[in-house]
Amino acid sequence: MAAIGFIGLGNMGAPMAANLLKAGHHVTGFDILPQARERFAEKGGKVAKDAAAAAAAGEVVMTMLPAGQEVRAVYLGGDGVIARAKAGALLLDCSTIDVESARLVAARAAEAGFEMLDAPVSGGVAGAESASLTFMVGGAAAAFARAEPLLAAMGKTIVPCGPAGNGQAAKICNNLILGVSMIAVCEAFSLAARLGLSAQTLFDVSSRSSGQCWSLSSYCPVPGPVPSSPANRGYKAGFSAAMMLKDLRLAEGAALATSAANPLGAAAANLYQIFVDEGAGASDFSAIYRFLRRESEKS
Ligand code: NAD
Repeated sequence: MAAIGFIGLGNMGAPMAANLLKAGHHVTGFDILPQARERFAEKGGKVAKDAAAAAAAGEVVMTMLPAGQEVRAVYLGGDGVIARAKAGALLLDCSTIDVESARLVAARAAEAGFEMLDAPVSGGVAGAESASLTFMVGGAAAAFARAEPLLAAMGKTIVPCGPAGNGQAAKICNNLILGVSMIAVCEAFSLAARLGLSAQTLFDVSSRSSGQCWSLSSYCPVPGPVPSSPANRGYKAGFSAAMMLKDLRLAEGAALATSAANPLGAAAANLYQIFVDEGAGASDFSAIYRFLRRESEKS
């Protein structure tokens, strides 16, 4: 069993670390929030006094932090993971961050002699709790082979995506598809309502024809057709609108940096920005349907 330092015990990190404990690993965790540290201790984890101590605690150091800024701070400082980790430790960042930060931190880790992977996830808190996350992994094959058994304790699908930063690239490209397709599906259902076509009828047609996509068939944004979708429980978040906005902005930044055309991604980001600014950030991202319906009612 591995000794693991785990930094960032929030909504995702806490259940991920708990699954590592359940699998029999020795996990030493740290979070800047006292209540996150207490919750981790209640699950049987050992709490480190600071991030540097967590980094020094294992042959593997994992992080699950909010964004690139926190990842750079936690890895690159004088007391950061790269300065404090044990020689030969495997570094594994599971946060969703910008590709540039992921590649920068991986390059600094390599200069210091560490193997590092970016391994962002999809599956949300429910996937983290049930150990059914999907990991998209960027980094060298040898590091991937070391990480795979640990990732398997937290997820079901583990996809190698190529060199450092490519896990983040896969994550934001996937969520670009998701954000745009969700809005397209919501627009279609909103138009159908205006045209007197029932949601169930549009679902019956489109889920079996060329408009079919995950946002429609598995996560339908209108109540009724897909009983398990958040639309049937008041749009309580599986994946929040604020998270979708974050990922669309990451895609936008990456598109800008690489001169890739991103017209629909930018439009989707702007719509989610308005929605989040209205105070809907905590609701599920499919609740953008309500926003589009409301806009339609205005005219
Ligand atoms: P969160 O805010 O609940 O957790 C992040 C944790 O990091 C917090 O507890 C915070 O206190 C801690 N933290 C911040 N700076 C720190 C530091 N310097 N040292 C130690 N701890 C620090 O966020 P989350 O929902 O757990 O998401 C984590 C990452 O996973 C994000 O990048 C997010 O985009 C990604 N993600 C989230 C979901 C989801 O559904 N929540 C789904 C997929 C991916």
